[in-house]
Amino acid sequence: MLLLDPIVQNLAELQRIRRDIHAHPELCYEEERTSRIVVEKLTEWDIPVITGMAGTGVVGVIRNGQSSRAVGLRADMDALPMQEANSFAHASVHQGKMHACGHDGHTAMLLGAAQYLARHRNFNGTVYLIFQPAEEGGGGAKRMMDDGLFHQCPMEAVFGMHNLPGAPVGTFGVKHGSMMASSNQFELRIQGKGAHAAQSHKAIDPIAVAVQIAHAWQTIITRNKDPLRPAVMSITQINAGSAFNVIPDEANLRGTVRTFHPDVLDLIEDRMRAIAEHTAAAFCAKAEFNFVRKYPSLINHMQETELAIEVMRSIVGGERVDVRDEPTMGSEDFAFMLQEKPGCYVYIGNGSGEGRECGHGVGPCELHNPSYDFNDALLPIGATYWVRLAEKFLAPA
Ligand SMILES: [Zn+2]
Ligand SMILES: [Zn+2]
Repeated sequence: MLLLDPIVQNLAELQRIRRDIHAHPELCYEEERTSRIVVEKLTEWDIPVITGMAGTGVVGVIRNGQSSRAVGLRADMDALPMQEANSFAHASVHQGKMHACGHDGHTAMLLGAAQYLARHRNFNGTVYLIFQPAEEGGGGAKRMMDDGLFHQCPMEAVFGMHNLPGAPVGTFGVKHGSMMASSNQFELRIQGKGAHAAQSHKAIDPIAVAVQIAHAWQTIITRNKDPLRPAVMSITQINAGSAFNVIPDEANLRGTVRTFHPDVLDLIEDRMRAIAEHTAAAFCAKAEFNFVRKYPSLINHMQETELAIEVMRSIVGGERVDVRDEPTMGSEDFAFMLQEKPGCYVYIGNGSGEGRECGHGVGPCELHNPSYDFNDALLPIGATYWVRLAEKFLAPA
């Protein structure tokens, strides 16, 4: 692997920062301490900072030379509302909060790159180091954009990275075009009329209606949607009733829809609403349907993806960069940034978990698992990637 020496030599400091953040996880939009550490470190390295976007968001700005070209590198800072099972020294000190997605490592890797870029300045233009809050369902990327990220920091392209457990350390993964699905939530309230279970003729049974709708909805996936365009609909909750002998007043259905194409999503939402309303009406019930588009599909841009692949190959070698054919149905709020700016999102292998120290909890080292830990061996690899990417993007003429 071709890692940058000064970053490798500074590994102890990066590891200390990473573990400190891991031990003090903060949830969506509450990343006060983490944000303060980022500001302190950037300031220590003479990097000007912009604070306040999306509350706890931080942008470090490193300028060099005369070029007006600019690129953005983005990391996320938030943790998850879950209890950590690990017992190593840097395990979470906060009950019910945990860095189980490795955003502690993402923050440390970008800090490592920041320090190197500020010291060595082998580029012509501006590097924006974006530390965002609230990736886990809070849409922090979008909030920073709403707060003027791309106006205050006019960049040509923006890049993101996430660790991937299971993929070996020293590997990267990426995909051209659609890489992750959009994530969307629906909720349906069916208003019927409650009655004694013995007098069902006096009721409008919302459970009977809910069952019809739940069945009919799946035909959208099998009969309406183009079979060559993937989508998955999962009804994850059906709630109604409270007694053996009472037909309830209402029933509630909830779930998610994930897909890649906006027109497929439009079709699914429209058909879900039509089926819910007309089916309910056919049974003399009322339907109240609510569909919320959470994160859009993450779509990598061609030119920036090629650049990212070239940089990853230059660090770990061609055969250790997995250019995938298939996307995942997971989602990521960096997708909002890629709707406005060209760019690319990549995976960095986090290993199989053997890098964890002994004494960790039970379970695999998977994302969102209570025994997960970010692998510190990635710190110099990810930081080197960020530096090489910025230097390549802003190469002096
Ligand atoms: Zn996550
Ligand atoms: Zn994550």
